[in-house]
Formats: sequence, structure tokens, C-alpha cells
Amino acid sequence: MRQRAFTLDGTTVEPGHRKEMKLPVSESYTAAPVHAPLTVLHGARPGPRLFVTAAVHGDELNGVEVVRRLSLAIVPERLAGTVILVPVLNPFGMFALSRYLPDGTDLNRYFPGSPDGNVAAQMAHALFTKVLTLCDYGIDLHTATRGRTNLPHVRADLSDPGTARLARAFGAEVVFDFPGHEKSLRAAAVRHGIPTIVFEAGESLKFQRKYVQRGVRGVQNVLRAFDMYDAPRRRPAFRVRVRHSVWVRAPRGGILMMHCRPGAVVRRGDNLATSTRPFGRDVSAIPAPCDGLVVSTTNIPMVHPGTAVCHIVRLGRRLAAVEAALAVARARADRRDADRRDADRRDAGNPVPRS
Ligand SMILES: [Zn+2]
Repeated sequence: MRQRAFTLDGTTVEPGHRKEMKLPVSESYTAAPVHAPLTVLHGARPGPRLFVTAAVHGDELNGVEVVRRLSLAIVPERLAGTVILVPVLNPFGMFALSRYLPDGTDLNRYFPGSPDGNVAAQMAHALFTKVLTLCDYGIDLHTATRGRTNLPHVRADLSDPGTARLARAFGAEVVFDFPGHEKSLRAAAVRHGIPTIVFEAGESLKFQRKYVQRGVRGVQNVLRAFDMYDAPRRRPAFRVRVRHSVWVRAPRGGILMMHCRPGAVVRRGDNLATSTRPFGRDVSAIPAPCDGLVVSTTNIPMVHPGTAVCHIVRLGRRLAAVEAALAVARARADRRDADRRDADRRDAGNPVPRS
């Protein structure tokens, strides 16, 4: 079968070509159009159509860099199918370094949108009808919300077979199996028959090199598994599917000293954080309520009673195997970091110290 030209919002892309576009999604107070930038990579051969989107929450930046790197790495002449890259779904939020739209709404609570709804609904409608519905699969990239940090993980509705296949292909160690907010991009897309997953990694308002790399590898895993592109493959250190998890909350207001971070394996009773108060020597421990893997923590030390300190996934009998796999992965990462530091020193013209 011959590949045909691809058309998005009136712009045509020939097989084996790329096109960068600006999709109008709203207008500013000065009536200037507000655009979502996007790149279409239209393969020379037919195949699945995949969207990769980022910054639906405008301050979640790791995905923006994942998308940029993918646009450099994928050569359309060697691609089967089509990849639509949208680095910034929510330009308003990015202008303001904010998760939200100017009226305080969360764009990711308004999909599939409506042409005559509020600002968020109209933007969601433009993105959904003009971009997302052209695709067969989707990957939406996020980080933790401001003030938190997340272990890289996938969120997917594994009851949908296409979504389960996509989640497996992505190759994350941890997959949260739940449908998500009904008006989120991913839930709306899945309901529309477009299997879609979310990849979460790291924290907002940062470019975190190792998490960016994980995102790139995950998308490349999908391209390879779906026979779209001959990309390098990254195998996960382990795989766990999560349905139940535990939020540990601050029992009282004060200031925390954290003793764990995402990726830590904890045992019931371990001290997750020390809670202190600004006056005196009044300190207390926040113990782990169960054995498990820490997948998210706060990174702001000030807490109210009830602030989520830590998110723990119970792993049951798999905990020891996960702990061992993490130790191997960490040793490998340490070696890579040391090599990178040596290369930096060499590039800077300094001698590499003998170890
Ligand atoms: Zn998000």
C-alpha cells in the first residue's frame, strides 16, 4: 500500500516529510491569536498515527524537551505511519509558568471540549478535533504538580486492550491502572477509541535530563514495538501494575525534613520524614504505614495537617525483587554519571583523575 499525503487543519504534508505548524487554539486580551506549536512527521510508508503531547499543564516542562528531542531524532523518510508532536498544549499556562489557564481552569479537565464552552472547553475542542482525533494512539507527557516530584511512571486504563498494549510497549517500571479523570485528555481519547497513556516524570518548572531521556526512550520503545521506526530499545528494570496505593499525610502543621525520595523502597515503620516546629525541640517522626515503593514525595518542606508527604505503592511479595532490580539499575546509572563527568572534564580540557 502506498502512503498518501497527510492533512492537518488544511495543511498537507507529503510522505517522507515533516512540517512545523502553528495551530490557533485561542486569542489573547489584545486579540492576538494564541497558537499551539506542532510538528507533523509523516512517514514514507503507511502505519499507525501517534500523537505525543506535552504541557497541557503549562508548567510541566520535561515533556516539552522530550518532544523537542523526538522531533530531532525521527527521520520521516525512515518512519512508517505518522507522528504528531505537540510540545505545548497550553501556551497560556506556559507564558505564565502556571499549570492553569488565565481564568484559573485546568485544561486537562475539559476534554473533549466544546466549541461554545468556556476558554478551556474551546481550546480542548480545537486540540481534540483538529489533532488528537486524527490519530490511532496517544501519549500525553506530564510531571508532578508544583511542590511534588514523581518517580517516572505510566498511567493507563488497562481494561482497554489497545491502551494496555501501548502501556506495555512504552516499558515503564510502574504502571498505575486507572481510567483517570473523565474529562482528562487521556480518558476522553480512550472513550473516543484512541488508546492513550500518560507518562509522569519528575517535577514542574525544570528540565531534568534523566527523566527527559526516560520519556524519549519510552516513545522510541512504542515506535519500535508498533513497527513504526527502528529506534533503540530500553527494557524496564522491572514491571509492576498498581491498583492500590497509600498516601501518607502530615499529621500536623510544621516543617519537614524528608528522609525518602521517589524510587526508595521502605519498610513499615521506617521514618519517612521528621516533622519539626519552628520553636523549641518539638520533633516527631512520620513512619511508613506499610512496606512499599515510594513513587511521589512533596518537595516543599512546609506542611499543613493533611498535606500529602509521600505516596507509596504496596508491592507484596514482589518488593524484594524490585529492590534488587533497583539496586542494579542505580549502580548502572552511577557508572553512567561517572563516565559523563569524565567526558565533561575531558571536553573542558581538564585531566581525568585516576580512581
Ligand atoms: Zn500534569
